[in-house]
Amino acid sequence: MGEFFTKKQRLWVGEALEIAEFLAEANLKVDLTDSAKYFYDLRTLINLQGAEKTDRALAQVCKYEYLRAKSFRAKRSRDFYRICLQDDKILKAAAWESPFFLRALIIYIITHELIHVIRFSENPRIFHLQIKEKRAEEKGVHRLTYNLLKGLPEPELNELLKRYRSIWDDEAPPQEGCLNPLTKSLSMPNFLIS
Ligand SMILES: [Zn+2]
Repeated sequence: MGEFFTKKQRLWVGEALEIAEFLAEANLKVDLTDSAKYFYDLRTLINLQGAEKTDRALAQVCKYEYLRAKSFRAKRSRDFYRICLQDDKILKAAAWESPFFLRALIIYIITHELIHVIRFSENPRIFHLQIKEKRAEEKGVHRLTYNLLKGLPEPELNELLKRYRSIWDDEAPPQEGCLNPLTKSLSMPNFLIS
């Protein structure tokens, strides 16, 4: 198991971003080509630096604030979001599953993180929530991820949606203890998407 995605897996990453953007535009009524409003990119581990890397999750969104130069009369800050995929953690989480499962996991993670980016872009306050509110926001993002992806025909993706469902759906069948939705074993921090 390598530390970085292979060329083929990086193609899945690009394809997953296209799927996520398409579904977000269709379902959330957003125009992601409007880069004045939605200003983001996505990087995999090999291109991450410093705090963009984390041991606590499979992926995270980092925020950068740019200040326009003083010479501009209307001095406005501009936020930029970067989806940071932690290849090594994702490969480890899917290590015992089929390649189709890894591909599905990449689609799930990128869709989830893109929804965060859209919500941060529309309401920057969300980026700095307190822990309790953050938990509710996270649940909401998992629910939206489900709604966007539930129509896709891949069985591995549906299996994954089922496993993640207990995070957001209080009506979902209870899982014993705190189960890792990926391995169905006791929770390990490495399944979390931040
Ligand atoms: Zn999240």
